[in-house]
Parts: sequence; C-alpha cells; structure tokens
Amino acid sequence: MLVDYHTHHYRCGHAQGQLGAYVEAAIQAGLLEIGLSDHSPIYHLGSDPHPLPGTAMSEREFPAYLQDMHEVRERFRERIAVRLGVESDYVLGWDEHYRTLWNAMPLDYVIGSVHWLGTWSIFSPELPPGRSAEDVYEEYLRTTQAAARSGAYDIIGHLDCLKTRGHLPDLSITPLLEETVQVIAESGVTIELNTSGWRKELGAPYPREELLALCRHHGVPVTLGSDAHRPEDVGANFAEAAALLERVGYTSVMRFSERKRSELPLQ
Ligand SMILES: [Zn+2]
Ligand SMILES: [Zn+2]
Repeated sequence: MLVDYHTHHYRCGHAQGQLGAYVEAAIQAGLLEIGLSDHSPIYHLGSDPHPLPGTAMSEREFPAYLQDMHEVRERFRERIAVRLGVESDYVLGWDEHYRTLWNAMPLDYVIGSVHWLGTWSIFSPELPPGRSAEDVYEEYLRTTQAAARSGAYDIIGHLDCLKTRGHLPDLSITPLLEETVQVIAESGVTIELNTSGWRKELGAPYPREELLALCRHHGVPVTLGSDAHRPEDVGANFAEAAALLERVGYTSVMRFSERKRSELPLQ
C-alpha cells in the first residue's frame, strides 16, 4: 500500500478532471492515501490579471480549491485518506511570502518546487539570453537550497527537473549537488520520487537514480508522487518506483497530516 502526494486537477489550466476523479483513481489503484497538490498561483509574476493562464491556478480560484478539497476529503472519508496540499513555486527572496501564506492555511503538506529562476521558466526550450547551462544549473541548485532552508515547505518537488528540457549540463554528482543534498538533509525536508519523468521522453524519474541514492546516503526522507495531470495517471509507475526506492536502500516513505510527517514502511 503506497501513497501518491503529487496530483493536479483542472483548475491549473493544463490538467484534466475534478478532484474527486483523482481520489476515485487512487482507490482503484489500491493506494493508502492520496494527496491533492495543484499548482499555486504564480505570485512573483503578479496575480490580477493572471500572468500566465494555463500554467497555474489563479489567485481568485484558490479559496474555491481549498473548499473543494475539504468537501472531497469528507465525501471519501470512509474509503481513503485524502490529504490536502499544494505545489507551491519557490523563487529566491520569496521565503517570507510563502512561509506566511502556507502557515496560515489548513493544509496537510506543501510541496516546494523550483519552476522559475526569476522570470525564466525551467521548462523553456531556450536558456535565458546570455546565460550558460552551467551558470543556470548553479542558480537552480542554489535556489533549491534556499527552498529547503526557507521553512515554507515539507517536500521538495522533482529535484532534478532542470533535465526536462535538456538544461542539465552535468549528470555526475558535482560538489555543489552534494552540498545541495546536505542542505536538504540538514533542513529536515522530505524529497519526492516523482514518477512523471518515466512518462515523458526522458524515460527517467525525478530525481535520477544516482541522485536518489545520494539523498538516501545523506538520510533524506522520501515520499512518492505521480505528478498526475489526468486521473488515470494517479499511482502511475509506482511498481518501478518502489523497486527503485528499495534498490537504493529506502525502507519507508513519508506521509503527512497537518504539516507533520510520519513513516510508512515499504513492506
Ligand atoms: Zn502541471
Ligand atoms: Zn512541478
């Protein structure tokens, strides 16, 4: 019995389906818990009007999302545990904003993801003008360290996501990457094994096996997320994920309730 802590729904503008459909899919997949974690508004780019429709929820929509999550949790209470979360951006310098924002909300957990380096999206096909891949990679890792230290998050999302568009210049374990994993370990945050990379051309999860093994080596706890953008992807690739976790030495995954984590043994 596993948990899926990374899912989306129609409100972000690029995922399909209602929250309830994701919960139904989790029951079908035989999961123990499902976490709802749609994309938060992109606060650092401005909120009204929506800076980038189709990328994340609008700020106006957020209260309805919270209400909808509560309703769904009650509706399925007898059948599966539904955890209330959000996938938040992290942007350098926005620590206080996100810490205050999420602490004031009745959430079970918050995923902090580095999707943006300032105004540049890591999913852009091109590098920012005048920047090298090495330089962008360094900023990405420093931003990830700051996200871990910010105190705003329980989980760091898709750790090596910079590889999605081929912007990761070095797949080896560099000193700065090792330092980043150490910072994550000292910060006490959890990472996720995000299976969505297996469903993309990449054919590899986030983080890649070598990096996951390094996290294990430094004692960083892990949880599981499909990053489903359609209900049918809830729990996708979890058999491979569980095998990978065991291969690198993990014996448990984390689950969250009211921002506190507890361990779920893998066997
Ligand atoms: Zn998305
Ligand atoms: Zn993400």
